[in-house]
Amino acid sequence: MACPVPGCGQTVYPRLGRYLGHWTLYHVPRTTLVGCDACRMVFRNRNKAQLHARRHVPEASLTIKKRPNDKFRDPGDVIPPRPPIARSTQIQAERRAAQEARRRQKPVLEDRHGIDREQMEYLFGH
Ligand SMILES: [Zn+2]
Ligand SMILES: [Zn+2]
Repeated sequence: MACPVPGCGQTVYPRLGRYLGHWTLYHVPRTTLVGCDACRMVFRNRNKAQLHARRHVPEASLTIKKRPNDKFRDPGDVIPPRPPIARSTQIQAERRAAQEARRRQKPVLEDRHGIDREQMEYLFGH
């Protein structure tokens, strides 16, 4: 896949992730940067910034800065590629829900074979 925006050349992006990276770098008018308040380091990646902030004692606070993108090329009518994130988070959420359901099932089964609540209170209540 090559970027259809005029002026981007014929660079072919074999993976959607690469193309998304190119899009964020060249076709988003403002870049989001995350700055560390303790030492004034600046990160493009929010996770990296958070990891960095934890190295400070006490943990540093982060400031999100928006800067005009100096590499910006107007994409015109070209529609931005859609990241596949939404789908994978949905799958993860489903997986987590299934795991939780399994976890919740267990104690119910054990309770059925164990001493029930009323009997417990009778045994230990007096
Ligand atoms: Zn492009
Ligand atoms: Zn820092």
